[in-house]
Amino acid sequence: MYDLIIIGAGPAGLTAAVYAARAGKRVIVFEKEGIGGQIATSPKVENYPGIRCISGTELADNLYEQALSFGVAIELENVEGIRDNGATKTVVTEYGEYDCKKVIIATGVKHKKLGIDGEEDFEGRGISYCAICDGAFFKDMPVAVVGGGNAALRSAQFLSGLCKTVYLIHRREEFRGDKMTADEVVSLQNVIPVLSSTVAYLHGDGALSAITVKNTVSGESLRLDVSALFVCVGQIPSNEAFANTVALDNDGYIIAGEDCKTNVPGIFAAGDCRTKNIRQLTTAAADGAVAALA
Ligand SMILES: Cc1cc2nc3c(=O)[nH]c(=O)nc-3n(C[C@H](O)[C@H](O)[C@H](O)COP(=O)(O)OP(=O)(O)OC[C@H]3O[C@@H](n4cnc5c(N)ncnc54)[C@H](O)[C@@H]3O)c2cc1C
Repeated sequence: MYDLIIIGAGPAGLTAAVYAARAGKRVIVFEKEGIGGQIATSPKVENYPGIRCISGTELADNLYEQALSFGVAIELENVEGIRDNGATKTVVTEYGEYDCKKVIIATGVKHKKLGIDGEEDFEGRGISYCAICDGAFFKDMPVAVVGGGNAALRSAQFLSGLCKTVYLIHRREEFRGDKMTADEVVSLQNVIPVLSSTVAYLHGDGALSAITVKNTVSGESLRLDVSALFVCVGQIPSNEAFANTVALDNDGYIIAGEDCKTNVPGIFAAGDCRTKNIRQLTTAAADGAVAALA
């Protein structure tokens, strides 16, 4: 019987683990892929307070070592579901079943990819899935954003304050995001909408230097010299395994407020996997602390 089972060893899960272990609780963390979560794939992080600059892998290693140092058990096992027995819960993994008093779900999100040639090769070398995270690395440079929803619009708006030019590429004639936001963003002097267009090719030797977009109506191609392409075509929360246990919103995020409480007593949601506006390291770590102390 564990006091606490944490699902996901990203910044939210490992912060929760540190807080709970330091409070004398018996804690185990299950992780299905790699310790550290999304940040482990980032070459550079500059906005985590107290750390001037660090690579994502080093940050992930530090989180891991810190949790281990307080006696947290971490197992590489995919969690397939949670059974709510009332006062106790049973966490079902690919290898077995584990009983506990409380559960924190900290399973994060996956960013949807464009699925074009070279996308993975340029990841961290011009392809980014987070404008707030990586925009500052492209100050005063021309960049592009692909996507038509509010996330893409807000990313373009954020980048317009930093970058020389922001091409905003969307496959349809009109943006999908709300009209007021779209009007506000396209009125910005350095935002250039490129509508009815998809990204067809990525160019660059080592780092991204240009993209080719293809007009979906005329079939014409246009080459844009950009130092970065921000892919904002959606996120997929990793919550399928819990859909029958806790309430999810229409996009698949676990419905939980700043107190990280779900609709099921004793089950908490922390980090990117829950309903919230800002998905960052700081907010994930904050949730981890809040959930563990709750
Ligand atoms: C390339 C990149 C760069 C970024 N750069 C920055 C930055 O500079 N600054 C910043 O503040 N933020 C940055 N972010 C965002 C930041 O990484 C996330 O906000 C943060 O990692 C969220 O933490 P989390 O713990 O909630 O989720 P995640 O980091 O997504 O971790 C969730 C973990 O849960 C695991 N998991 C999922 N489902 C299961 C399951 N069923 N069983 C077991 N384990 C499971 C996953 O494998 C994953 O390891 C970046 C993101 C990316 C992708």
